[in-house]
Amino acid sequence: MADRYLSFTGTAPGRFLTRRFGLPQPAPLRRWSPEHPELDGGTLLLTAGKSELDLSCLRADASDRPAAVVLDATGVRDVDGLAEVHAALHPVVRSVAAGGRVVVLGAPLDAGTPLGTGSSPGARTPLDAGPPRGADSSLGAGSLGAGASLGARDHHRAAAQQALEGFIRSLGKEIGRGRTVNLVRTADGPAAESTLRFLLSPRSAYVSGQVIGVGAGPVTAPADPARPLAGRTALVTGGARGIGAAVAETLARDGAHVVVLDVPGAEADARRVAGRLGGTALALDITAADAGARIAAALPDGLDVLIHNAGVTRDRRLVNMPADRWSSVLDVNLASVLRTTDALLAAGTLKAGGRIVATASIAGIAGNAGQTNYGASKAGIIGLVRALAPRALAEHGVTVNAVAPGFIETKMTAAIPLFIREAGRRMNSLAQGGLPVDVAETTAWLAHPASGAVNGQVVRVCGQSLLGA
Ligand code: NAD
Repeated sequence: MADRYLSFTGTAPGRFLTRRFGLPQPAPLRRWSPEHPELDGGTLLLTAGKSELDLSCLRADASDRPAAVVLDATGVRDVDGLAEVHAALHPVVRSVAAGGRVVVLGAPLDAGTPLGTGSSPGARTPLDAGPPRGADSSLGAGSLGAGASLGARDHHRAAAQQALEGFIRSLGKEIGRGRTVNLVRTADGPAAESTLRFLLSPRSAYVSGQVIGVGAGPVTAPADPARPLAGRTALVTGGARGIGAAVAETLARDGAHVVVLDVPGAEADARRVAGRLGGTALALDITAADAGARIAAALPDGLDVLIHNAGVTRDRRLVNMPADRWSSVLDVNLASVLRTTDALLAAGTLKAGGRIVATASIAGIAGNAGQTNYGASKAGIIGLVRALAPRALAEHGVTVNAVAPGFIETKMTAAIPLFIREAGRRMNSLAQGGLPVDVAETTAWLAHPASGAVNGQVVRVCGQSLLGA
């Protein structure tokens, strides 16, 4: 459904009226297209505190009107260091171009991590060296640094580093003009390259106010950067329409052979999507007890990327919710994800170097009236991701992350009554709904071969929704 308010505010009378009455002023977002693959302008690299982060992967070119500003604040150790954050960004924020990016780099907050001390110990492989597929088994979500104990004044560093989160979330809410602000916590610059590339590109147009942890390398550079998933197989559950179809399309664009799984009732649509992408369709109800075994049988050569996207809502307040409405949502959205993940890992179908991306929701973070079943299922996805990520990486070389969409323009959200829909659309820093492709691009970044150091993360694709912020 077209966002008429967004079109109206792009006109001169629309701009005048919205300014006059203090109404939201969404800026049209510039998304990735083959004609427009990069931001229009240079990247300004700034530093606060004494940093040892290797940022040679960043091509920084000072410009009067940068499209992006990256502030390396990994060396910020105390409140004085935070004054350097202010001093660095205060003079330049106004000059960041419309639709631009601010990315702050912070140190990992791991209790055992010596904050702001530069790269993690251990071997690191430069991105372009192309190491063998598969992740280092010693690395996981909780391995953002060495296990040194905190020093006497490390609570000062912890306070200063945590302060960066309040800083970026506040800046995200005030910066406007389609600009986004995110924080990447890392001690390993080269391992963060795929994440920085994503955040500093039009692909991340609807990702703002996020804190993303990146562990240590090694990571795998694709042979062909334009088709990073070439030679890989991806399975997208619920891929026949909506967000799932956009994910299938984006992974196919990136070179993957895509298997579009959906219920038998949606087989014709699944075939249409798969046919368009040169992929294959798999008609299967993901809640079937043997779904994992049937997927494994359909993929004798294995699977590289597993996208748990299928999801349903059966809304009703708890007082009116019968057990079958509860269990059908929990079964599709959570139990089947647990079952198929376990089955495909146990069968060895998911190959080393593989990726699992599950779909949560901001309803699983903020909660939503009438959605106790849905909110529980989506919060369960977050629990699954955080607990499984270190183990899946250590035992199988597979990363596990989640995307948590906010208000995304789909048939589901088009069915919401007008005033609630309008509120849903505007209650975020970008003052508009996201598109399925925004979730798809985020998924593609997590599925990227060079994203092996991104593990156990829950990334909201919500334009910095005010809900659960
Ligand atoms: P959608 O209803 O348009 O598509 C869901 C797809 O999943 C459908 O093709 C459906 O047939 C399939 N599916 C449902 N049950 C299945 C089963 N048992 N086995 C196999 N396939 C099954 O939904 P959408 O809006 O595209 O949402 C996709 C995912 O994103 C869901 O997990 C949803 O909860 C999540 N999400 C969506 C939004 C949003 O604003 N649209 C917000 C947050 C989260």
